[in-house]
Amino acid sequence: MPTDPLYLTTPLFYVNAEPHLGHFYITMVGDVLARFWRARGRTVFTLTGTDEHGDKIAQAAADAGVEPRAHADRVSNLFRTTWEEAGLRYDHFIRTTDTYHVAFVQKVLAEVHARGDIYFSSYRGLYCYGCERFYQERELVDGLCPDHKVAPAEISEENYFFRMSAYQERLLATLEKQPDLIFPDGYRREVTALLREPIGDLCISRPKSRLTWGITLPFDDRYVTYVWFDALVNYVSALDHLGKMDLWPAAHHLIGKDILKQHAVFWPTMLMAAGLPLFRRLYVHGHWQMDAGKMSKSLGNVVRPLEMKARYGNDAFRYYLLREMAYGQDAEFSEDALVTRLNADLANSLGNLASRILAMQQRYFQGVIQPRSPEPIDDALREAFVTARRELEARIGELAFHRGLEALWRALDHANKYVVETAPFTLAKDKARLPRVGAILHELSEALRVTAQLAEPFLPETARRLFGLLGLPDERLAHLDLPWGQAFAPGHHTSAPEALFPRVEVAPA
Ligand SMILES: [Zn+2]
Repeated sequence: MPTDPLYLTTPLFYVNAEPHLGHFYITMVGDVLARFWRARGRTVFTLTGTDEHGDKIAQAAADAGVEPRAHADRVSNLFRTTWEEAGLRYDHFIRTTDTYHVAFVQKVLAEVHARGDIYFSSYRGLYCYGCERFYQERELVDGLCPDHKVAPAEISEENYFFRMSAYQERLLATLEKQPDLIFPDGYRREVTALLREPIGDLCISRPKSRLTWGITLPFDDRYVTYVWFDALVNYVSALDHLGKMDLWPAAHHLIGKDILKQHAVFWPTMLMAAGLPLFRRLYVHGHWQMDAGKMSKSLGNVVRPLEMKARYGNDAFRYYLLREMAYGQDAEFSEDALVTRLNADLANSLGNLASRILAMQQRYFQGVIQPRSPEPIDDALREAFVTARRELEARIGELAFHRGLEALWRALDHANKYVVETAPFTLAKDKARLPRVGAILHELSEALRVTAQLAEPFLPETARRLFGLLGLPDERLAHLDLPWGQAFAPGHHTSAPEALFPRVEVAPA
């Protein structure tokens, strides 16, 4: 198990849209990894936040008749309140309008400018206002922006450029030396292919005549810096502000594949120009598809996290997303599939198992845990959970959440089979066999205890409820090495069952 510190970041979310599935997914993955590694003794720090400058925000604010800052405050706040209600944790929330961030971006720009890596030039190109970027002819689809399906405008202006091309060879060499810099590997290959063609330089400014809602360039106050220098530098400015720069080389950036180039080409070359070490790793995920299209506000197929919470609960939503998407690949979001998973895996395999065990403990022993008397079938049950933990830990190490959960659910299947095979409800009809019934329930209570501990990063609310029903304190959730058979002292009481996951009959239309 790795022990090095882990600094996990989500992309900063642009305040032109309210929190949706894509935002939720990546923030939740950060929360899962933080909980998972902390329970295994690793130092973890997580950062998320909002990206607030640019044409689109200025335009949205103007449309709403408010100042850009007021618009940004409202949407940024919405992210924080949504994450709180959705049970997502992070250590720091940064806004690109925070004064420390603005000052840090200006400091970095001044340094890169002083080194001669920022120059002034005229630029003529095809510009999409929706994307806030220039397009190369070959990137267009039938002459239209591939995202907005509108023809870009041809504009010409004087701007500042970052000499990104000067770092191209060095970046390519770094990727060859450090192939694990980008994960999964398919994305690394995509980036190295990109770096074998000329990457050009990066326009990093906008004249204030066209845009004022941005960070003023420290060397020319007629200009503001354009989105990427502003947004990417947050990963460092937050640490600088918090006095945690020792975490910098430990950065693991969680990103979607739509911002791969910005994080795999723009960002490392900026870091090189600023004289900073590179991040440790990019973790690139695919897109959630719905009706076979990329989810976006403009396409109208938005999944709202708090609506999902209201219908199914936070944990069922988390479980479905983690179980359904192979990290790195695209996945299809379907509420029907969510309901199927909820009923089969959560209500049935886990919820019913817990209910049966707790109910029998009440019925036969008034909730009091009985002594163990291990038999080979009991050892096999324990062994199933030892295997589950080992597989889960290996899988989460490679971000294969779906495989990790499968491993844990194999142990739950084993526990359900164990109930059928040991048949405590039949044995209990014979008074002389009651000690064996008690021993069986003790083994099963241990199975629930370990399940709660292993499931905590993925199902945090459920893990706490289950621990409460077992009469165990929350602090022990992280005691992963507590030996099997030692969680329940003589006379320990468990509670009457509660439905952890009520079955859902049909997905709402
Ligand atoms: Zn566009």
